[in-house]
Amino acid sequence: MSFDIIGNREKAVAIVEIVEGENEKKIAEEIMKKHKNVKSVLKKVSERKGELRLRDYELIAGDENTEVIHKEYGYSLKLDPRKVYFSPREAKERQRIAEQVKPGEKVLVMFSGVAPIAIAIANKQPEVEKIYCIEINKDAHEYAKENVSRNKLSHKIFLIHGDVEQEAKKLNLKFDRIVMPLPFGAKSFLDLAFDCLKENGIIHFYSVGDEKDFFGNALKEIEAVAKKLNKKIKILKMKKILPYSPRKWKVCIDFSVS
Ligand code: SAM
Repeated sequence: MSFDIIGNREKAVAIVEIVEGENEKKIAEEIMKKHKNVKSVLKKVSERKGELRLRDYELIAGDENTEVIHKEYGYSLKLDPRKVYFSPREAKERQRIAEQVKPGEKVLVMFSGVAPIAIAIANKQPEVEKIYCIEINKDAHEYAKENVSRNKLSHKIFLIHGDVEQEAKKLNLKFDRIVMPLPFGAKSFLDLAFDCLKENGIIHFYSVGDEKDFFGNALKEIEAVAKKLNKKIKILKMKKILPYSPRKWKVCIDFSVS
């Protein structure tokens, strides 16, 4: 059994992965006894699926209302894990990206969810010019609006509800940095990202890699697009982020394009 806790000291939700044969009621009781802030326990009952990257959960103990205000690195994020994608395990990765952003940068976060990456960036780098976020899940977009205002970042973060393919084109802007946190689909948006990037701009490209060659596929995808568009890329960093499934890891490749 493994679990994550999303929320704050007053109210949190535990998300558990139950192995066959384990007593889920007992596990839920023990979690709630040890972590008094946990008011609901959700069991994962499916993989993440579909465009919105949601999964099915079963409430195995506690309150039906699973909306929480999650705290990390000095900012807060309101969300319901049953309606939106969110991973507390990615907090450190958000900081890794935020630490790279320089004053005056214009940033695009594609697939922005409840806006944790944009908020991490604006919080860490108050001199950022503007961060544009595009998200297709209406619930995530609504939470993002609330999160941006609750962290007093409305002057820095501009939120768009819709499909990255159409909305990024409509924006018709060039960015210093583009974050692409959609490990199972970002490759279809690489042409667009190259197109929206300033000369020598940076892309953070997420993918899922197999342990035989963690970065091989992602590198091939990036190189193919660069070749097609007659661009030069420079790999800045290749990082294993988190285990994704047995023998697979979520990875990120940071690279610049000229
Ligand atoms: N960036 C957020 C985070 O770190 O918590 C969310 C990441 S989640 C892996 C990917 C997000 O992309 C989901 O919220 C999903 O709804 C959104 N998404 C998927 N396809 C999209 C598209 N074509 N345009 C805009 N958003 C999309």
